[in-house]
Formats: sequence, C-alpha cells, structure tokens
Amino acid sequence: MTAPAEKHVFQAEVKQLLDIVIHSLYTDREIFIRELVSNASDALEKLRHLKLVEKDVFDADLPLEVNITTDDTAGTITFQDHGIGMSRTELVENLGTIAHSGTKAFLNSLKEKGDTSDAKLIGQFGVGFYSAFMPAKEVKVYTHSWRPTDEHLVWTSDGTGSYEIENATEDQKRGCKIVVYLKDDMKQFAKADEVRRILEHYSSFVTFPVNLNGEKINKVEALWLRSKSTIKDEEYTEFYKFQAKAFDEPRYRLHFNADAPLTINALVFTPKENQKRFGFGRMEPAVALYCKNVLIDPKPKNLLPEWLRFLKGVVDSADLPLNISRESMQDSALIQKLNRVLTKRYLKFLEEESEKNPDGYGEFYKQFGIFLKEGTTSDFTHREQIAKLLRYESSLTEKGKTTSLTEYVKRMPEAQKEIYFLHALNRAALESGPYLEAFKARNFEVLFVYEPIDEFVMSHLGTFESKRLVSADSANLELGDAPAATGEALADDDVKSLCSWLTEKLGDAKVGKVEAGKRLVDSPVVALNSDQMLSPAMRRIMRAMKQEEAETPPKMDLEINPRHQLIKNLHKLTTTDADRAALIAEQLYENALLAAGIVEEPRNFVTRLNKILEMAAR
Ligand code: ADP
Repeated sequence: MTAPAEKHVFQAEVKQLLDIVIHSLYTDREIFIRELVSNASDALEKLRHLKLVEKDVFDADLPLEVNITTDDTAGTITFQDHGIGMSRTELVENLGTIAHSGTKAFLNSLKEKGDTSDAKLIGQFGVGFYSAFMPAKEVKVYTHSWRPTDEHLVWTSDGTGSYEIENATEDQKRGCKIVVYLKDDMKQFAKADEVRRILEHYSSFVTFPVNLNGEKINKVEALWLRSKSTIKDEEYTEFYKFQAKAFDEPRYRLHFNADAPLTINALVFTPKENQKRFGFGRMEPAVALYCKNVLIDPKPKNLLPEWLRFLKGVVDSADLPLNISRESMQDSALIQKLNRVLTKRYLKFLEEESEKNPDGYGEFYKQFGIFLKEGTTSDFTHREQIAKLLRYESSLTEKGKTTSLTEYVKRMPEAQKEIYFLHALNRAALESGPYLEAFKARNFEVLFVYEPIDEFVMSHLGTFESKRLVSADSANLELGDAPAATGEALADDDVKSLCSWLTEKLGDAKVGKVEAGKRLVDSPVVALNSDQMLSPAMRRIMRAMKQEEAETPPKMDLEINPRHQLIKNLHKLTTTDADRAALIAEQLYENALLAAGIVEEPRNFVTRLNKILEMAAR
C-alpha cells in the first residue's frame, strides 16, 4: 500500500539558496562530500545519545558508521548512515526549509548586496545538505527514522524548485542513504581515488568509521575528544607528528575541555624546537579548527593571536555552526571568544609550567621567548599576563640565570619605586659600565636585556604591577636619596661653573643638559638619555637597521660626579690650563659615549687619548 508521491515546493529561501548553489561557478565543489559526511556523523551522534534514553529504537543493532560508495558506471556517489533518519514531517522541515539563522542571515546579506551570484563565498560558506546540488543533477534521500512506527521514505529533487516524497521499499534500514546522481562534468566524484583523497583531507578525525567502498578511511581517532586518562604518551606523540606533520616530539601538550563560556575540546602542542628562531619568519597558523570532529578550517586565522603561531594541534568547538564561512568566521564573535578562552588557558598553562618546572620552562623560553615578547608588543588584551612569563638576567642573578618580573618586584627595597632595565649586547658590557653604580649603591636590581626587541617590550609594557619600567640610562629617574656619599664634593658654585664651562666647550650639538647628580659613585661622568623613547641602545639599533654610516653622535645629557677627583681637578684646570681642560673634557665626553655603547670615531678617540697619556707621562 504505497501512497502516491507527494509534491512539495521548496521554501523561498531554499529556492534562493539552491539557485546560488546550482549556478555558482565555484570550483571547490568537493566540499559537498565534507558536508554530507558531517551530516551523517551528526545523525550518528544523535542516535548514540538517543539510545541512552530510548528503549524502542528501529533497527537497534546497526553499526554506527558512515559508508560511502562510488559507482563509476552509473555516475553516482552514495552516503549511507544508520543514524536517526527522518520522518515525513522531518524531511519537509529539514530538507525543505531553512531553519538556520546563520544561513538566513547569509542569504539576507547577499540580498542586500543585490548580488546572488557570489559563487566564491557560497563555496566557503558551506550550505550543508544543499551543497549536494553543486555536482548533482538529482539527489535521492532514502530514509527511515529511528521510530519503529515511521515509514520507509524517499525524498527526490533536482534542486530546481520542488521535491517529492514517496514511500520506499522496505529494505531501507534505519538512517539515511543519500544518492547523488552526478552531472556529466562532475563524474570525478564517482571515482574512488578522487573521493578517497577528499575524505582523507576532511574526515580523518570523524569519530565514527568512515568507509569508502567497504574500506575504512579514517585511521586516526579524534584524540582530543577522548578522556585524558585513557590516552598514552605515545598516542599523543603520534598524533602530534601526524597532525602537525612534525618530526620532533612535542615539548608541551595541553589537552583540555571546557563547557563554559564555550564548549571546547582542545589539544594544543608546543613543538620542541622553534624552527624560525633566527628571525621573525612567517609561520602559518597551525591549530586546526574542528566542529564535532569535522574539519572547519585547517589554518584558521584568528583562532589564536598572531604571536601564538608556533602552536600546533586541534581545537574542536561544538558551538560552531558547521556551515560557517571562513571569511565570516575569522571575525565572528564566536571565534573571538574562542581566541580569548584559548589564549588565557595557554598562558595559565605556561605560568603553571614555569612554577612546576622552571628549568623546563627556561628551555621553552629559550626557543619561544621571542614570541612572548612579540605578544607583549602586539596583544594588548593579554599583555600583562604575558609579562609575567618574561625572564631576564639581572644584576642580582648569576650569569645565565634569569628572574621574572614578579620575583623582581618582590625583591624591590621599599625605597625603590621603579623597575630598571639596561640594554647591552652582553653582561660584561653592562657590569663594567658606569650605569650600574647608582643602582648598586642603593641595592636596586637592574634587569639586563640583550635583544633589540626587549626595548620595544619594555616601552610597550610601560608598567608592571603599576611600577614604571625605566631604562637605567634615562636622565629622569626617581632614584631617591643617595646613600651616604664618601669624599668631599665640589662646592655648589664650582659645580655650576664647571657645568656651564663643559656645556660651552662641548657645544650644543653634542650635549643637552650637563648637571651634577647623585647616581655616580666610582665614575666621573655618565651620558644619559633625556629622550625616553630613544635610549642609547635604541639609537644603536635604529642605526643598525638603517645600516647607515656613522653619523654625528646623538645629543646626550651628561651627569658629572662632583665627588670624583678627576672632576675636582678638572674644575681647577679650567682656570689654570684651559687647553688641557678642554682636551680632558672631550675625552671624558667620549668615554661616557663609549660606556653607553655609542662611540662613533675611534680614530679621534685614540689620538686624543695618546695626547693625554703623553701629558701624564711627562
Ligand atoms: P545542518 O546540518 O547545518 O543542520 P543541513 O542543511 O546540512 O544543515 O541539514 C539540515 C537538516 O537535515 C539537519 O539539521 C538534519 O536535521 C537533517 N539531516 C541532514 N542529513 C541528515 C542525515 N544524514 N540523517 C538525519 N538527518 C539529516
């Protein structure tokens, strides 16, 4: 007793969608395979849940798998699953109307643009079941729902405006069998090799077996969906190597699930080596985005911030609509939310690692610290959290040992108001220079920074735990009172006259302010940087980047040490032997530049020094 075929017209929006699908010139038609496999996998997933609560399920013992068969002679490709299937009403509701708000919004946006031929967009957008009409001249959906009392049905359409629902023969088992009758120029999708390639690309992590002509395709399981306690280290490593196409072992792995604010299953690997250690070479994002085991995007752009591009792995969120377009995905609120959750979680993970195993973290930092530094300069949202992960040598650490800013702040004596850092190419240069004296005398710690990017890091951070980060060579420091100074200082008036004499002799072009200060202990003079943005180190970097010939030395402030014998003698000399005093002033100035790492013309330097030595040896 079969009822006559029922003819239905598609809902207007479906018609519109099908029109775009069928007439699009989009070349990436293969995505329909992904869409149908993922629908089948969804239906199986739903059945799995259903079986937990329903006793009376039709064909209860059928295996939960997706079977794809190709028929080269008939020109068909068939997708069969024993999922929940569909009743007559469900066929009408699911395959005749569009319930998806996302799809509707997408259609509206096309309407607004007055352009319904945006073929490229449609392909990337994904249109779920309807994508079957890209390569098909006709689609048949044989189905029986999970309810034993429902009918055996077949839904048929050529996608042009209407569809028919008929009763089907009794041999249709529970679930769906979707037969795609391929257009003449789409026959490649009836070829097993071609379909295998596509399946391997899109469906290797579907949790149900995906079989092509009876052979299982998806060998690798969705490891990230399994409970952590059941996974062996080797499995993780194998998965990492497979998924990231890596040859090394992962340095860290972070496997976590979250339910709020989003459903996330993530398995993120930090590689052992930073391949791009020697520069900011471009790397593509390599944490793939999945929705319930189905690959959405292997290289999603905004899933993680740029500076985390060294990470590999998989993020699976059940909250993502499968048919989301790559373009709209990249700046969707959902992706931003995922990005925030993942970044926070990874940063927390690093923080824990740094506490649990500082040496291991040190190794990580050697490889990937440069990315963290980049993060502080580019990721405003996470800047403070990243800053906690930075590590530097300091005047209090041994060579090769580092401190965090948090530890630094904890050690700060009460009188110290700011965090100090000093840039040089190596530790020896920092320790022998005049800059540390003032800090040592006060017991203030100074961070030693060696990389050009550190200057940017410090200036982008600005503060840490509300304390200013200041270059120890800047002129305006809040150093507070000096400890009891030793030795008698030059009288204030004499200091004044010496300073103005120095300013005049050295000239405006070379020096800004010349003043007596409290920071020096053993050195007679130090060159300071009045411009916060342009420390001596920064100038050096800029010059190196421009690769220019040495220019005239930058204008610096000078601080003199009024207790230093040389300064006291120089003051006397200005009245008794002005020429000699001038020679010494020049040399003192260049000595200060040398200590700052910015001496330009060693030839003059040595000639003058020899003259002075000649006098001394007289
Ligand atoms: P989506 O999968 O994003 O919901 P589709 O257009 O791909 O959108 O499918 C529409 C609906 O049709 C699905 O939500 C589901 O209810 C139903 N459907 C599609 N394929 C199957 C299938 N293989 N088994 C059961 N139901 C299906």
